[in-house]
Amino acid sequence: MVVQSNTAEEETNPFEKIIILGSGPAGLAAALYAARAELNPLVISGVELGGQAALTNTIENYPGFPEGIGGYELGELFKKQAERFGARVQFATATDVDLQMSPYTIVTDSGKYKTSSLVIATGASPNHLNIPGEKEFTGKGVSYCATCDGWFFKEKEVVVVGGGDSAVEEALFLTRFASSVKIIHRRDTLRAGALLQKRANENPKISFVWNSVVEEINGAGKVTSLRIRNTRSGEESTLTTDGIFIFIGHTPNTQLFHGQLSMDDKGFIKTNLLMETSVPGVFAAGEAADSHFRQVITSAGMGAAAAIQATHYLEDK
Ligand SMILES: Cc1cc2nc3c(=O)[nH]c(=O)nc-3n(C[C@H](O)[C@H](O)[C@H](O)COP(=O)(O)OP(=O)(O)OC[C@H]3O[C@@H](n4cnc5c(N)ncnc54)[C@H](O)[C@@H]3O)c2cc1C
Repeated sequence: MVVQSNTAEEETNPFEKIIILGSGPAGLAAALYAARAELNPLVISGVELGGQAALTNTIENYPGFPEGIGGYELGELFKKQAERFGARVQFATATDVDLQMSPYTIVTDSGKYKTSSLVIATGASPNHLNIPGEKEFTGKGVSYCATCDGWFFKEKEVVVVGGGDSAVEEALFLTRFASSVKIIHRRDTLRAGALLQKRANENPKISFVWNSVVEEINGAGKVTSLRIRNTRSGEESTLTTDGIFIFIGHTPNTQLFHGQLSMDDKGFIKTNLLMETSVPGVFAAGEAADSHFRQVITSAGMGAAAAIQATHYLEDK
């Protein structure tokens, strides 16, 4: 891909040793490690400073915070710690990249950069239903992460939307806390693997609402009910619930790198254990490269690993 320069000013940015794309847990952990290796990293933050974690009220499963910590606050602390050692966080979004040859070119909405190494930590976004009430009640009964939020639904009634492996896995996980879990699926059979289906069918807390889609999420301050529609009869009904967990897939934010890096069929960047991608000096960490763990701690761990490896790469160079 040829990267065009838009303005003369774009050419003035100094050459960078390492650029990190993304300011979520993976990007800021990479920044901390790269800064402590005296690489003076530049973080291109993207629009979501702190990443997905900053969207959630409380994070209770990141070690070191026995009382939990606000998601936004944790992102701020990550940033502050990386900056203390010299990381620079630029509020900008990458719009184009050229990874054909080193030094690599990164074009952002506030300038163009050349860099010897790159850590891609652009994360992923949970797919949304895009229905009324979904945005308004996110963090107030609408969740995309059972591991993160299940605990808040002790002895409550919850709904899971989806029919794939992750929907059923997360529904089973939620039965540890919730008094009942209804799986709403738009078809009359699950796509999830046979063993998961068997476990769900045998779990007394799980029931199914087949051939149905959620049309609207209602509540007052927090979720209280859903309007659902039967896809066969068209009939609408109200389902009371304390929470709705939406598991209809994740989309990695990796469109920029299509055709330049090896990816799986869903667009997650392929890496080896050293976080190396198919291009030397380009590393990927966190949810951009991980469709499985999807946690703050695992993403931060991958970010740290990517920066350590980038440091070795630059030393060898
Ligand atoms: C509502 C919610 C609650 C959650 N709660 C928890 C929890 O309690 N505990 C837990 O462990 N996990 C939780 N998670 C999951 C956790 O937030 C993620 O696993 C983690 O944030 C992933 O980190 P990441 O750095 O890989 O990506 P992200 O957090 O997705 O960050 C991606 C970063 O890349 C940036 N970016 C994207 N595109 C570009 C671009 N073109 N140029 C530059 N930057 C770009 C974004 O602005 C963002 O800063 C939750 C997730 C959600 C959505």
